This record gives sequence, structure tokens and C-alpha cells, in this order.
Amino acid sequence: MSPVPGVPVRDPDFTGRSVVVTGGASGIGHECARRFAFAGAAVTILDIDAATAGRAVEGLAREGLSVAALGCDVSKADEVREAMAEIEARTGRLDVLYNNASVFAAADFLEADEALFDRTMSVNLKSVFLCSQAFGRIVRASGHGGAIVNAASVGVSYTTPDTVLYATAKGGVQSMTRAMALALGPHGIRVNAVAPGTVVTEMVRERFEDPVRRARALDRTPLGRLGEPGDVAGAVLFLASDNAAYVTGATLFIDGGRTGLY
Ligand code: NAD
Repeated sequence: MSPVPGVPVRDPDFTGRSVVVTGGASGIGHECARRFAFAGAAVTILDIDAATAGRAVEGLAREGLSVAALGCDVSKADEVREAMAEIEARTGRLDVLYNNASVFAAADFLEADEALFDRTMSVNLKSVFLCSQAFGRIVRASGHGGAIVNAASVGVSYTTPDTVLYATAKGGVQSMTRAMALALGPHGIRVNAVAPGTVVTEMVRERFEDPVRRARALDRTPLGRLGEPGDVAGAVLFLASDNAAYVTGATLFIDGGRTGLY
């Protein structure tokens, strides 16, 4: 029983909720899976890298957290449909989807080929459509509503000459977030996005080992440090939780204040 009427003891509290985290084997997705599990959710990681996902599940088990993982390429419609159906069958419901899986590839714009364009759009943008649609159909049928959080990027506000394709896909994610909020609101499904700044994960570690790039990023970040996966996870859990019950179509920048400069 909470000492404060109307406020759950565990806040946010995902007890009894079924949460799907795409790309949850590593980085920000892994930390989100961990925190959702800690907040009481039945968490399933969908990741193309089944071996890393398996190791992530073992590591979380050592912390006393029970998380499931399924191998899935989120850019493939049939794999996504099967995975969502399997999760619903196993957990009895679907409540939250965090569309986090993504690939990052820097390339000289004049040298980038069609294959890189297609891969960047498939994994970073089409997957959001496929996963959200499969999730949304199941939640619509359940009638209890749900929440989707998408991983955009500060790349929607400012970018670099070598990340045109990545920034384009993430701009699409932000637009899709606003439009899906309209389409899914009537079914009780909220849709929001996080836009992380530079967060030290495998995705960008090598890029920010360059001391000049790192110093420039720090210099342009009012909070004076690069982000940690937990900085983003806190925002993802907020947007997915009942604390954000009246928030939909929003993009929350988790960037230490950097977008304020632009
Ligand atoms: P990460 O590379 O550590 O993790 C990405 C995960 O996605 C990996 O586990 C990978 O196996 C998985 N994945 C890749 N392709 C997949 C596919 N086709 N199907 C299923 N899983 C797939 O990345 P991260 O840094 O934790 O980034 C998480 C999210 O945050 C991404 O959407 C990324 O674009 C976004 N983001 C990150 C940063 C940053 O600085 N790290 C900045 C802005 C936005």
C-alpha cells in the first residue's frame, strides 16, 4: 500500500505489463530492457544478434531480472508478425513497444550507394512501421490501449555531412511518431519519441574515440558530458508509463541541452 494515495509504490510501475524492446541486446535498448524488468514488466528483447541477446539475458538473470529474447530482423514483416504473436501468446498481452533497433553508418554522400540507403531506411525507418503496425493490431484487438516509444535522434535537429542517410531515416521516425499518434490515439495507443544526443554505446564508440570530435561534442553540450544509456532509459520509461498518460506525438530530446545551440 502506497503511503501517498494515488501514487504507486514503484513509480513507474509496469507490473503485469508486457514490454517489447527492439535492439535490446546492447546499448540503450539493453538498459531499457533492464529498467523495464526492474519496474516489474515482462520484457522481451527482439534483436537480430541472437548471441548477444542471449548473453544479455544471462547477465540480467545474474541481477535477478527475468527477461526473454527472440532472434528477429525487425526490417522483415513476417519475422516481426511472428515475434509479436509469440510474445502475446507467451505473456498474454502486449502493452509497450520501444522501437530502438537501428544501424548507424557514416558515409561520404557522393560515395554512398543504393544498398546503404536501402539498409539504413529498412532497419531504421521501415522497422518502426512494421513493428508498430503488428503491435498496434494486437493492442487494438485487446482494447486496453498501449504505448509506443520510438528512437529518433538529435540528427533531426542538426547533423553532419557524413550522416545524411541516418539523419533522413531519423527524420522519418520523428514524422511517423507525430502521424502515428493521430492514427493510433483512437485505439488508446500513445506514440512518442526520444531523440538522444551522443550516448556512449558500441554504435558510436569508435567515432567518439576521435579526440577532436569528442572535445567538440563536449564543448557544445551545456551539461558538459556525453550521455549514458541510463539517461535515455529514464525518458523511455517515463513516456511508456502512465505518468505520460496525456502525452502523445511528442519528441523528447535527451541531449544534455545541445539542441538549444541550434
Ligand atoms: P547499439 O548499436 O548499441 O544497439 C542497436 C541494437 O540494434 C543492437 O543490439 C543490434 O544488434 C540491433 N539491431 C540492428 N539491426 C537490427 C535488425 N535489423 N533487427 C533487430 N535488431 C537489430 O545502438 P545504441 O547506441 O544503443 O542506439 C539505440 C537507439 O538510439 C538507435 O535507434 C540509435 O539510432 C539511437 N541513437 C543513439 C545515439 C547514440 O549516440 N548512441 C544517438 C542518437 C540516437
